[in-house]
Amino acid sequence: MIAKPKRPLSRLYFLVVFSFLLPLAGFFIYAAKNHAAFLFLTGGLMVNVVLLLLFHLRLQKKQSSIAINKEDYFERANLLKAELAHEWETIESFRHKITSYGQLKDLTEKLSLCLGLAETSNMLCAEVNKLFGHKDITVILYLFHSSMGALGISSSQRGQMQVNLKAKKGDVFDQWVVKTLHPLLVEDTKTDFRFDAEKIISEDSRSVRSLISAPLVTGDKTLGILRVDSPLAHHFATDDLRFLRTIADLSGVAVENAQLYQKIEDMAIRDDLTGLYLRRYMMDRLNEELKREMRSGQQLCFLMIDLDRFKQYNDTFGHIAGDIVLRTVGGILKEHFARPGDLVCRYGGEEFCVLLPDTPKKNAVSLAEEVRRKIQAKEIVLRRQKTHVSASMGLAAFPNDARTREELIMKSDEALYKAKEGGRNKVCSSS
Ligand code: GH3
Ligand code: MG
Ligand code: MG
Repeated sequence: MIAKPKRPLSRLYFLVVFSFLLPLAGFFIYAAKNHAAFLFLTGGLMVNVVLLLLFHLRLQKKQSSIAINKEDYFERANLLKAELAHEWETIESFRHKITSYGQLKDLTEKLSLCLGLAETSNMLCAEVNKLFGHKDITVILYLFHSSMGALGISSSQRGQMQVNLKAKKGDVFDQWVVKTLHPLLVEDTKTDFRFDAEKIISEDSRSVRSLISAPLVTGDKTLGILRVDSPLAHHFATDDLRFLRTIADLSGVAVENAQLYQKIEDMAIRDDLTGLYLRRYMMDRLNEELKREMRSGQQLCFLMIDLDRFKQYNDTFGHIAGDIVLRTVGGILKEHFARPGDLVCRYGGEEFCVLLPDTPKKNAVSLAEEVRRKIQAKEIVLRRQKTHVSASMGLAAFPNDARTREELIMKSDEALYKAKEGGRNKVCSSS
């Protein structure tokens, strides 16, 4: 603020002037009465004094008008200063908005380049982490599992790193967002009366003192939630929540597209009936695996499986019953060959095959024997009848038995034929 000018001390000034002038005027009046020459002198001086006084009064008037003008200018200057400050605030807010829109534009561009769900989720978490730019914050994307309908972590990121979190299905805050479908800001988890503080501590060992969370919605479908939390209290403000909400609105469509893409991709490589991979996908994977094994010098085993006398089974119980058996056997195979890298596929009809990378032939034979026994032991109830199926299996190893993909399949097929010839319900390996 600019200080206002002080008014001149006019009254005090007049007092001083009068206290000086009055005795002087008295002296002149006394002198004029006694000496005639003084009369003119006194008259002249009096005129001078009066003129001086008039001049002084005018000067004072001018001075006070200047003071008033000055005050007025100061007032206006202050107003202009306040207006300028307000304009700066508006400019700053626009600048902030432009930056935010730029960041959101970048995010949508990056999201539009992602196809798969994992790629989209990881990219979204990494970008949100960058946008909120603090090394301690954790970004979590929860999505509803399409088959189970339960909430699960699709991706989570702290700083530059992907992290593995314990509360896979979300905590009380996430359940709140899912239930209300409203964005949530918790400034301090210890003092927020809406949530039970003890329950929060028991759910996750991670320290969370403040968080923002927004639901991911497209149309009338809730896909999941996007959450950012911090170990520090009061780390987020309403503006942060508003920004996260915009991000959630924008990324909802990208996540839905990625889910659809994933579904289509899955449909293209998986069999409808058993959910196992199709032969085409297996052939591609086999190519890659063989190249990898050639580099690493490890063994890869290929197992061909064919159900025994399945035509007869179909004829007795019907084609639909046969489908149930195929699905059951598919399930047993999937559960049995579950090591990372194992690949179970429906080769065609009632034939299956299994790819076992980095597996010595001896181990593959025992794995095949185990699963053969499991299939034989499985009781399948059809038309209120307890039934059983058996399978014959042929095994060949790369590079011991075959040096190419086609040769490997042919060798395992030959071994399977041997198992059939040998009385079925057997595992034979190529020699
Ligand atoms: P084996 O292999 O022991 O020599 O005898 P098999 O009776 O199994 O002989 P084969 O392999 O020639 O018969 C395959 C049968 O599998 C023929 C067909 O009815 C049945 N099949 C193939 N695909 C399906 C399917 O998708 N569903 C059902 N229910 N049956 C199928
Ligand atoms: Mg067959
Ligand atoms: Mg058969």
